[in-house]
Amino acid sequence: MSNKIQPTEKLYLPTTDSAYETEFTAEVLSVNESQVILNQTLFYPLGGGQNWDTGTLNGPNGQLTVTEVRGRSEIQHFVGEDHQLEIGDQVTGKIDWDRRFAHMRMHTAQHLVSGIVYEEFNGARTVGNQIHQDRSRIDFNPIKFDDEMLDLLKQKFDEKVSDKLEVSIKEMTREEINSIMPSDRTNMDLMPKSVKDLRIIEIGNQVDLCPCAGTHVRNIGELGEIEFLGKKSKGKGTQRLSYTLH
Ligand SMILES: [Zn+2]
Repeated sequence: MSNKIQPTEKLYLPTTDSAYETEFTAEVLSVNESQVILNQTLFYPLGGGQNWDTGTLNGPNGQLTVTEVRGRSEIQHFVGEDHQLEIGDQVTGKIDWDRRFAHMRMHTAQHLVSGIVYEEFNGARTVGNQIHQDRSRIDFNPIKFDDEMLDLLKQKFDEKVSDKLEVSIKEMTREEINSIMPSDRTNMDLMPKSVKDLRIIEIGNQVDLCPCAGTHVRNIGELGEIEFLGKKSKGKGTQRLSYTLH
């Protein structure tokens, strides 16, 4: 990889609608054996628990498959060793929409489930999450779920989804978000103090607020029905809940 270059512009970030875009054009800024860095991208890189997007890049020498996407600032698209792309090439990118939309639904569901668990079960907090296409999981602490708790969680989730609340993105300062919601619910207490302005994902009118750089649906009516697939103890009062959406 060449010397430090400009950060990749994340085209999926600015608005809720941005996450629904699937095609873009970009310029190649840097290449190595199997990866390319573009000036801008719609490909979401692994991060915040959410898995990467896959898709294609079309360049001067034809179509390449993007199998993996990583990085926070300069986003690396893994396209295989025979890519033949060069700095300055123009490419058209297309993301796999089914995979992305599944991540958007799963991720937004995670926000909702995390908020409900905090509210209903004595402030149990979310200590980890992994968002995948078919099956996602969230780690909570301290908690020990039983069947009744899972039934209540599903009931509350379904109620919220049937309310078809809108999801919006807001810029807020630390002080603003902390004045609305407890910092252990939003995980703001874990956010480095150097971060002053945050991208907040809001469900409904302050039903849930969460600082997050992932991709989400526009309306939680799009989540459909949740099914909890299992729970697993991870020790020290932490339980992992697996779920899928129908
Ligand atoms: Zn999120």
